[in-house]
Amino acid sequence: MRLTIKFLALLVLALAFCPVGPNAFGSSSPPETAQGNWQGEESPEKDYKTDGRPAQSERIITVVLDPGHGGSQKGAVGVEGFVEKDFTLKMAQALLARLSQNSRLKVLLTRQGDEDVSLEKRVEMANSQNADLFVSIHANSISRPNIGGVETFFHALDASGEEARRVAGYENSSGSGTADSGDLLQFILADIQQTERLNSSAQLASLLHRRLVKALPWEDRGIMQADFIVLRNTRMPSVLLELGFVTNRRDVKLLRQDESLEKLALAIAEGLEEFCQLLRRKQGLAEKGQP
Ligand SMILES: [Zn+2]
Repeated sequence: MRLTIKFLALLVLALAFCPVGPNAFGSSSPPETAQGNWQGEESPEKDYKTDGRPAQSERIITVVLDPGHGGSQKGAVGVEGFVEKDFTLKMAQALLARLSQNSRLKVLLTRQGDEDVSLEKRVEMANSQNADLFVSIHANSISRPNIGGVETFFHALDASGEEARRVAGYENSSGSGTADSGDLLQFILADIQQTERLNSSAQLASLLHRRLVKALPWEDRGIMQADFIVLRNTRMPSVLLELGFVTNRRDVKLLRQDESLEKLALAIAEGLEEFCQLLRRKQGLAEKGQP
């Protein structure tokens, strides 16, 4: 039994680095590419090798942007009626516009307008599209109006601190929070995949956060880990951004300006593009059979 577990664990690791994975083009994933839409024609930019499959180092990378809240779920409401759900959508649209300039990215949004989308549905959208990256966009709130700044999260079952636990508790409040069930073997295999995914998520968080802190004159509140539903259940590298506090007057003043949104969009886009280069390099090496 122990040998069987080891074999399956190795198999999972091999699949994680295999060029023909669920994210590879030529798979059975439904064709769609219109930037920001879930339906449409297959992208003409895909670069296929002679065997009909694209080189991993050349393939188009799918990024899912997740504007937090929406519809009846306003998210946090702060200074002078600043509403989180409106900001997150505007921010995601600014980022979509920026990323759409890169023809090697396919960018999808979990909501297009002011609509209710459950946390579980957001996860399902990203997983069903075999997305390569998932970025959830939020703004923070707290009872102390002097606190402001930017925080970047990736997943952990145990929060990295009280602030991380508080934020995840708030953002998870509209989800069911149910955990996946499974037997011990499934748990072990999932755990191996999870470790690889978490390492990538940490790297993505770092690339984004270091740019975000410089994008605006605001406080660097650090990179943290917590059990957000959208981070726990997505199967690709995923991060959640808390872009300022709606309860902080200075942050709100910044976030109301289109110029600030452009600066944040540029910072996130540059971070994502650097991560994509690393991803392509890693997958290109895997394709050549190199470690
Ligand atoms: Zn939120």
